[in-house]
Amino acid sequence: MRMYDIIKKKRDGFELTEEEIRFVVQGYTRGEIPDYQMAAFLMAVYFRGMNERETYDLTIAMLDSGDRLDLSSLSGIKLDKHSSGGVGDKISFVVLPIAASFGIKIAKMSGRGLGHTGGTIDKLESIPGMKTSLDKEQFLKVVEEVGFSIVSQTENLVPADKKIYALRDATATVENLSLIASSIVSKKLAAGADAIVFDVKVGSGAFMKDLDQARKLSSLMLDIVKRNGKRAKAVISNMDQPLGKMVGNALEVLEAIECLKGQGPRDVMELSYTLVKEMLDLAGVKVSFDDIEEKVRSGEPLKRFKKFVEMHGGDPSIVDEPTRLPISRDVVEVRAQREGYVAKIDAERIGIACVLLGGGRSKKEDTIDHSVGVELLKKVSDPVAVNDVLARVYYSKKSDLESALKIVESAYVLSEQAVEPLPIVLEVIE
Ligand code: URA
Repeated sequence: MRMYDIIKKKRDGFELTEEEIRFVVQGYTRGEIPDYQMAAFLMAVYFRGMNERETYDLTIAMLDSGDRLDLSSLSGIKLDKHSSGGVGDKISFVVLPIAASFGIKIAKMSGRGLGHTGGTIDKLESIPGMKTSLDKEQFLKVVEEVGFSIVSQTENLVPADKKIYALRDATATVENLSLIASSIVSKKLAAGADAIVFDVKVGSGAFMKDLDQARKLSSLMLDIVKRNGKRAKAVISNMDQPLGKMVGNALEVLEAIECLKGQGPRDVMELSYTLVKEMLDLAGVKVSFDDIEEKVRSGEPLKRFKKFVEMHGGDPSIVDEPTRLPISRDVVEVRAQREGYVAKIDAERIGIACVLLGGGRSKKEDTIDHSVGVELLKKVSDPVAVNDVLARVYYSKKSDLESALKIVESAYVLSEQAVEPLPIVLEVIE
């Protein structure tokens, strides 16, 4: 078998066999297939797509590229959650400590930033000292003691995704349903949970731009999980504007801490509570939003988050003194040129501005600047007077600032008429 022939076959729109898909995944993971051939293959998949059978085979080949985590030593029900990627998505830092406070265990494997979207691991690494790569014993110890943990692809878990994910990020081949489904589900199956909740984002800041695509991605993922004997649900949520007010690595950790103190923005709180409720439902525990709110008020989720940071070697004092987070002090304000109502904030543009500021990667090798980002003071439906501050841009290099500022300005659309707030949770698919 030759990689060249497989690229050509997919380029010309033909269906690949399971054997061919395995050859690609194994060859690339072992370093036998070079980046340039894999990049060409991914672009062929991007344009030609894969059917359900190919997507299933790709997921299982990726899953088989490494080990699977055995969570049987952990007590209680093991749940997991994963987002399809968005802008300002700090939801895991809020959901996991709350869900763990109800007695479930979450051993979560997360990714880095992808395209214009931020990555949970990059955000975590903005916490001074925080280690996101633990060996299996340490990881399980944190989950047993804290109730949850989040790590990057440690040990030898789905090494295929680790390599393919980074290559997709740098070759504009992220937005394909089969590539997204296989990337997410292979990680979730390898992580060994009993049941999974997917947060499928739809809108300008998501990889799925319309509801139909989001539904297709949800059913693809639910189907693969079910065929592997596990239970899952998908929550389709709105990404037509960034989630919450903060976009950027350290800024999002700061906002997540506010949420755990019960003081987060409405959209982040509502989506977090929905995901907690659906996760607990899969675990056979029925709770209401009031129960969840009470749990947050009790302070237990915040304590768990602090312990999680501490056990990962991070500085736990950021929880009580979030100013210790590395957030840039160089800030420029973006002001409204006219009065009106915020009709739209293009989330993808805000994500791109953040990447340009250094908060994301344009090339695989790029390092992240955790201190930069965008704070959105006005969200969709807010009334605005002339000269009101719409957003603050946190930067560290002047050279990055001008283009980022222009993009943030152009992301805001004002209307003369009043605008309804956007709903955050659109559908729950069982
Ligand atoms: N999250 C992932 O883990 N993979 C994707 O491809 C997109 C979002």
